[in-house]
Amino acid sequence: MAILVSACLLGENCKWDGGNNRNERVIALCAGHEAIPVCPEVAGGLPVPRQPSEIRDGRVMARDGKDVDAAFRAGAQKCLALCEGKQIDFAILKARSPSCGKGWIYDGSFSGTLVSGDGVFAAMLKARGIPVFTEDETDEAASIIKQCSC
Ligand code: SF4
Repeated sequence: MAILVSACLLGENCKWDGGNNRNERVIALCAGHEAIPVCPEVAGGLPVPRQPSEIRDGRVMARDGKDVDAAFRAGAQKCLALCEGKQIDFAILKARSPSCGKGWIYDGSFSGTLVSGDGVFAAMLKARGIPVFTEDETDEAASIIKQCSC
């Protein structure tokens, strides 16, 4: 199976603070499959480390007040282009991220408050019909693998 994965979940130090979100359950899930690591923020030209960002009124804003929406969208498009010509079975992305979050994201106030919504990249994948899971949903993702006859 071809699985798109947030690179930080695989241990890549691409997170805003220079660290990662290595997740052993995600790594185990991807074992034996074609895991395609992506980081839409780095793909968009943003540095590591960088200011944390959140989505406010539909635009991605850095904590210092800079509008980084264009970089986020350009990076998400680049990652989407990586999938062209590949049959992506599903994506497993970092929860709550303004790029990768699915279902819940921070509200733009940098106060730790969650609202329903998707990150920029997750929304693009969903619009393409690609199933998206977070690292909190590895059981659901594993059930797709079990159902697959490949
Ligand atoms: S953009 Fe996605 S892959 Fe990159 S650090 Fe943020 S959550 Fe991880």
